[in-house]
Amino acid sequence: MDYRCPVCGANLGKRKITQAVVVRMEMECSHCQNRIRLNIHRAEEIVVLLIFGTVVALAAFAYWFQSQSLVLTALAAAMLGALALPLLEQTYLRTWPRYAPSVQRPDP
Ligand SMILES: [Zn+2]
Repeated sequence: MDYRCPVCGANLGKRKITQAVVVRMEMECSHCQNRIRLNIHRAEEIVVLLIFGTVVALAAFAYWFQSQSLVLTALAAAMLGALALPLLEQTYLRTWPRYAPSVQRPDP
């Protein structure tokens, strides 16, 4: 995963991702102050949706059947998901740029 700013090339690391998600996927480069956005790969979207769907379904079944083993399976699926994303970044998305220049919207 390439964590450099697309404008100035400064390494931004991972630290602002959660913040960026809250602020509509857009953020400011801490180095050059240019607006950039998270560049989400389709594979990441699919993995997140699959894991989220699996965990929600398992949790629902666990509640429905009052099953402790299903609760543990749901927790395991959530943990697996937390491990799968960094793994995906380091293998399949090794050279994928994490950030892209933000497209300026025209002011009304
Ligand atoms: Zn920058």
